[in-house]
Amino acid sequence: MEQNSSNFIRTIIQEDLETGKRDKVVTRFPPEPNGYLHIGHAKSIVINFGLADDFNGKTNLRFDDTNPLKEDQEYVDSIKEDVKWLGYEWDELRFASDYFEEMYNRAVLLINKGKAYVDDLTPDEIRQYRGTLTEPGKDSPYRNRSIEENLDLFERMRNGEFENGKKVLRAKIDMSSPNVNLRDPVIYRVSHATHHNTGDKWCIYPMYGFAHPLEDAIEGVTHSLCTTEFEDQRPLYNWVVAECEMENKPQQIEFGRLNLTNTVMSKRKLKQLVEEEFVDGWDDPRMPTLSGLRRRGYTPEAIREFIQATGVSKGFGIVDSAMLEHFIREDLKLKAPRTMGILRPLKVVITNYPEGQVEMLDAEINPENPDMGMRQIPFSREIYIEQDDFMENPPKKYFRLFPGNEVRLKHAYFIKCEEVIKDENGEVIELRCTYDPETKSGTGFTGRKVKGTLHWVDATQAIPAEFRLYEPLILDADTNENEDVDSMEEKTFLDYVNDNSLQIVQGFIEPNMKDVKPHDKFQFFRHGYFNVDPKLSTEGKAVFNLIVSLKSSFKL
Ligand code: ATP
Ligand code: MG
Repeated sequence: MEQNSSNFIRTIIQEDLETGKRDKVVTRFPPEPNGYLHIGHAKSIVINFGLADDFNGKTNLRFDDTNPLKEDQEYVDSIKEDVKWLGYEWDELRFASDYFEEMYNRAVLLINKGKAYVDDLTPDEIRQYRGTLTEPGKDSPYRNRSIEENLDLFERMRNGEFENGKKVLRAKIDMSSPNVNLRDPVIYRVSHATHHNTGDKWCIYPMYGFAHPLEDAIEGVTHSLCTTEFEDQRPLYNWVVAECEMENKPQQIEFGRLNLTNTVMSKRKLKQLVEEEFVDGWDDPRMPTLSGLRRRGYTPEAIREFIQATGVSKGFGIVDSAMLEHFIREDLKLKAPRTMGILRPLKVVITNYPEGQVEMLDAEINPENPDMGMRQIPFSREIYIEQDDFMENPPKKYFRLFPGNEVRLKHAYFIKCEEVIKDENGEVIELRCTYDPETKSGTGFTGRKVKGTLHWVDATQAIPAEFRLYEPLILDADTNENEDVDSMEEKTFLDYVNDNSLQIVQGFIEPNMKDVKPHDKFQFFRHGYFNVDPKLSTEGKAVFNLIVSLKSSFKL
């Protein structure tokens, strides 16, 4: 697999191994099973698995399942599938919920050391007491409860004696710390909820800031890689590892999140798009989820190459979606068979071609990859071309078909438009053309030139197919990924959802494509790369998702 190029995390790991600070590398990918994985997670996966691989280390897949209200087995299953699909194998499959007993014991240890206390303040009061970035917080009136009282209350929290929100366990650190995260963070809350893994065994759950460092330490993670929004939590991370007397002391290292233009990535927002039916599920081909990208036709190779190219840094940046598209074009260029498909058919009758005659024309499957061989395409008196490829009154420099003009049919002959047939509403429904048998493709004809080359399919043998054409789901180019931003703005990201993100058309494909299978990928001449949709295609009719058009203005 692709090697991780040099980056600051790699340098840290290398030094740790050289100086003997570490004798091995263990990383983890720690998703919360509260949604499907997206392309941003791919970055974390590639970094965690890739770096460990480079140093012969190990990587666990660990579900950070500490919030039963939002988590679900469906998400666990999809995440496993997506990590495998991306091409990675985890060493161990772990669940944070497997460690609930140990976490509880560590919390008891903190209480015994006078480093944690049960607080009766309401969530609102806790917020008020916390202070601000410029003002220190103040102590809760319950901060100085005795160890015995705290032990008793914490046990009773566990035993279900208190309602949600009535009591919390807080770390006793420093209410005047300049780092708000250290102002006695809540480390356990009461939540009477059924957990996807532990059922009703627990009604108190650890908070992220307490649970995550313990999970890492328990698993012997050496380098705990996360995104920069956790930078301010690092002192808490280290405090928990130290005060809970964990044997293994992982090191948290932060890197910049991946953001993409015209893309929302937070699971909360993606979930909203699904629940409010802007899209047809988490795997809708317009979604930036790995399952959506897979269904759209993206390959794991293209996604990995893309992630590698975005690099690893501390910085915040927005990557142009065109860069992702560049990598799928690159990946499919030599792999995908070329073919012709008509998305919006216009019938053409070639009046001087013998009725009933069919000839088979030879065409390369992929001119850039001759090893893929040849295919055969039937040609007869009636064909379909694209409606777009004809204009009755064309502007200057229109080189496609118009009355009196001659064009080349790819792999076939020159045809000339002689007559336009319209229906009673004046719509063009058919063209009458003539062909010149001398101009057959591959015969070396040089008598005259034409400027336009059109694609086409034989009307008598072409297979009906559905094409799904996509535009970005979100119209705002730099939709800010920062969770807090849109609540302050009047518009939400939903105001930027593109009403025209999906267009469905019914067209035709070459008859040699009768046996296409889900996920087969093709380059349709002059249109772009398409993927056979695994959910919507039926025995009788393939549905093609536009992966990406052919043209790109993107330069690496
Ligand atoms: P979201 O904000 O999308 O819900 P999250 O960070 O809450 O994502 P987790 O399930 O906690 O989602 O993520 C698992 C790992 O993936 C974390 O280590 C997280 O930092 C990382 N990750 C999530 N989004 C991105 C991103 N856009 N770029 C890089 N890494 C990411
Ligand atoms: Mg989250």
